[in-house]
Amino acid sequence: MFFSLILLCFVCFSSIVAANNEVNIYSARKEQLIKPLLDKFSKQSGIKVNLVTGKADALLKRLEFEGVNSPADILITVDAGRMFRAKQAKVLQSVSSEVLNQAIPEHLRDTENQWFGLTVRVRPIMYVNGKVDVAELSSYKGLADEQWRKKLCVRSSNNIYNQSLVAAMIANIGKKKTQQWANGLVKNFARRPQGGDKEQILAAAAGLCDIAIANTYYLGKMLHSRDETQKAAAQKMAVFWPNQKTTGAHINISGAAVTAAAKNKQEAIRLLEFMVTDQAQKWYADTNFEYPVKIGVEHNATLKQWGDFKADTLNLSNLGKNNAEAIRIMDRAGWK
Ligand code: FE
Repeated sequence: MFFSLILLCFVCFSSIVAANNEVNIYSARKEQLIKPLLDKFSKQSGIKVNLVTGKADALLKRLEFEGVNSPADILITVDAGRMFRAKQAKVLQSVSSEVLNQAIPEHLRDTENQWFGLTVRVRPIMYVNGKVDVAELSSYKGLADEQWRKKLCVRSSNNIYNQSLVAAMIANIGKKKTQQWANGLVKNFARRPQGGDKEQILAAAAGLCDIAIANTYYLGKMLHSRDETQKAAAQKMAVFWPNQKTTGAHINISGAAVTAAAKNKQEAIRLLEFMVTDQAQKWYADTNFEYPVKIGVEHNATLKQWGDFKADTLNLSNLGKNNAEAIRIMDRAGWK
């Protein structure tokens, strides 16, 4: 009898340990961009990682719908604007970790540490080599000047990357000037916005416009594409870092957060802390041609060829705060 009680207790104890020895992720990041890193974490820590991938907005809706019953411990997604939405929806929780605070610059994480940037993505000006006098480029604001009439390719206003760019402009130069800028920018569109960032680069290379606004990782991926058309298009383009004398180039993040419903909070924090080790930072940024958030981690060779630049140090929570106003400004400007 005594022995069986001990045995029973041993069984129940080990099942608790087993249940806690895993972590569940909802990821908007594609499996090949994260799975190898998670496998490494599992091997090192003994913590099993269960990965569910999906579209960013769908995953957020799912978290909201599941509420406290959600099996997810971690949300991995892109864009600070989206992270802000998740925070507003109360599906995230604050995390207190010295490791994360030390590794991630303050402007790249939530003011209450409800989300953390893990990689930096940059949205500069790209131009067709030889078609633009670089001396005439300066800032995002300058792209609204008359000289660029019908020369600009950019995707639609319903994309969060552009909403976040406009949100950053609001924070940096105010609503009124941002509206004037947007009005001028739309006049300079070479065509009605269509396609993603990659399509803007392709359109510029094909001669439809001289300038494209796009995230650099698209250019990086195209340069290394097995598709010769994409590769050739990317090779025609150059990167111009805007706002170098003022606020710096617009940046955003891909990031992660511990969910409000997390049942494996400690394991979740351990995984996030693993993601900011030098090795993980290097791999994670390299795999998608992004920049590490952690200072001192080496940049990918492809990124290095575009040179160093000054990045905007605006706290990225502003992208979320100004999102609604950004959408109104783009609507009023007729940015489709
Ligand atoms: Fe993207």
